Amino acid sequence: MEFKYIDAHCHIEDKSFNKNRDEIVKNAKDNGVEIVTSGASLGGCKRALNFKKEYGIYLTLGFHPGRTKAQDNVVDKVYNLIRENEKELLAVGEVGLDINVQNLDRQKIVFEKFVGLAEELNKPVIIHGRGLEKECFDVLNNRVVSMFHCYSGSINLAKELIENGHYVSLSTLVCFSKDHQNLVENLDLENIVVETDSPYLSPIKGEKNEPKNVIKVVEKIWEIKKEEYSLAEITKIIYDNTKKLYRI
Ligand SMILES: [Zn+2]
Repeated sequence: MEFKYIDAHCHIEDKSFNKNRDEIVKNAKDNGVEIVTSGASLGGCKRALNFKKEYGIYLTLGFHPGRTKAQDNVVDKVYNLIRENEKELLAVGEVGLDINVQNLDRQKIVFEKFVGLAEELNKPVIIHGRGLEKECFDVLNNRVVSMFHCYSGSINLAKELIENGHYVSLSTLVCFSKDHQNLVENLDLENIVVETDSPYLSPIKGEKNEPKNVIKVVEKIWEIKKEEYSLAEITKIIYDNTKKLYRI
């Protein structure tokens, strides 16, 4: 099977896939979609590491800002797990800041710790920046290359990120959200990647999201940009962007 797509961010290790994980990984492969799964908690990172080996998929490991109420020893365990398995992962993340979590000072400390680790390991960082994209960019201070997962910030900041060599990931939200479609209209394809964030952000009501739906994101981008590009061109540009980001 020739791969044409990469789901740049999803959660294969999510427990909601326990009943059909084999099937959704197969669905992706059969449709030419490679998977980058992203551990986001201590348990999630351990499971993601196992599934990376079991399925031969790609891996990133991090600690979601929504988890930062946890004690330091939990954060340290994730930190050490990343160090010990450095060779297994493409990037550190998802890590970052979330406006809906009420402990911003604590989030910043944890985020800084993982950015420092990525810098030391010379790996890109996958950012969760909901509502605080600019603050995340400030913390990064261009020390490492980053990818803003499920980007929902402003058009101007997206342009600034890309000018600075960072990547902007468009999720399945593009399939139905006018704001996200507006982003597509106003950005070139440079440093754009696509993701599903499965099992979240399903483009189909009542269904769990899965990595093969990343094809729908590419098709939606093409629908918006079809005067400039063919579908094959868009597919290839996005695939190549993702390989460059993850150095694969
Ligand atoms: Zn995620």
